[in-house]
Amino acid sequence: MPMIIATSVESAVSALRDHPDARIIQGGTDLMVEINFNHVKPSTMISIRDIESLKKITQPSNGIIRIGSGVPYSQLEQEPILSVVPALAQASRTVGSPQIRAAGTLGGNLGTCSPAGDTLPVMFALDATVHLQSPSDAREVAIHDFMVGVKKNIRRHDEIITAVDFPIVRGWQGYSKVGVRNAMVISVASACLVADHNEGIVRLALGSVGPTIIRCREAESWLHSVTSLQQGEKISSDIAKEFGHRAAKESSPIDDHRSTAEYRRHAISVLASRLLTKAYS
Ligand SMILES: Cc1cc2nc3c(=O)[nH]c(=O)nc-3n(C[C@H](O)[C@H](O)[C@H](O)COP(=O)(O)OP(=O)(O)OC[C@H]3O[C@@H](n4cnc5c(N)ncnc54)[C@H](O)[C@@H]3O)c2cc1C
Repeated sequence: MPMIIATSVESAVSALRDHPDARIIQGGTDLMVEINFNHVKPSTMISIRDIESLKKITQPSNGIIRIGSGVPYSQLEQEPILSVVPALAQASRTVGSPQIRAAGTLGGNLGTCSPAGDTLPVMFALDATVHLQSPSDAREVAIHDFMVGVKKNIRRHDEIITAVDFPIVRGWQGYSKVGVRNAMVISVASACLVADHNEGIVRLALGSVGPTIIRCREAESWLHSVTSLQQGEKISSDIAKEFGHRAAKESSPIDDHRSTAEYRRHAISVLASRLLTKAYS
């Protein structure tokens, strides 16, 4: 299988245009599994691993941090992400093993777009924006519009994901996941909660409990109606519990080889309730 080694975004997208059956490979931690199991048989591979511009973390404006799609988890676990987008650092720390975290990237998590992808609930809870580049144009897509189903997104074949913009939020944010063991595990349920003290709102996104990541808009607005969500406010255990129940109601889990739908709903209720309690403790 021919492998094209792209060293710039321009050469990568030109190669994609010229090879309609080609697949992009970044860290290869998802794609090589697919190839080894004969689930996909690309005619050509385009490696974007040597494109330096995709490995950058920048702050184009005060309110935003832009993370290149080629940044690996091993870097996302550390500063400046640890201080600026702590939920993303927490999610990155839960991915696979040190070897997977050294190779696997943010862009690859988005490219695969599994509902179990650990960085995706963080993107949904923070209203992140995905940057895409094709041979003819660049566009920005809200994460809510980017992911459209199980392992489905709106990326066109001749586009590459170049970066993700994360709003920098003043407040608290956290990510938690439940799996069948503590390490090297794909989540059976996950949740990211952001308490945005500037906006006075809480946002909650769930992973592994629906075809896409789920934003709990009903639970969020109920919480808003019963509390002022001011910094320093304490959340009662009754409110935290009810918030968890409401989040679980918005999930849409299935039974599969990893878990039952019933257990997943229970896990979401506990995760949401605990994250909210931590945010206002
Ligand atoms: C043992 C093991 C454990 C794992 N554990 C976890 C886990 O705990 N949590 C988790 O979320 N994931 C886990 N994964 C999955 C995987 O590591 C992640 O999804 C990772 O982010 C994939 O990144 P990558 O760079 O390796 O992507 P690749 O495998 O190179 O690519 C994945 C897909 O995205 C596309 N793609 C990659 N980069 C781009 C781009 N810039 N633009 C457009 N398309 C692109 C590729 O064409 C491919 O379809 C695990 C995988 C393994 C093998």
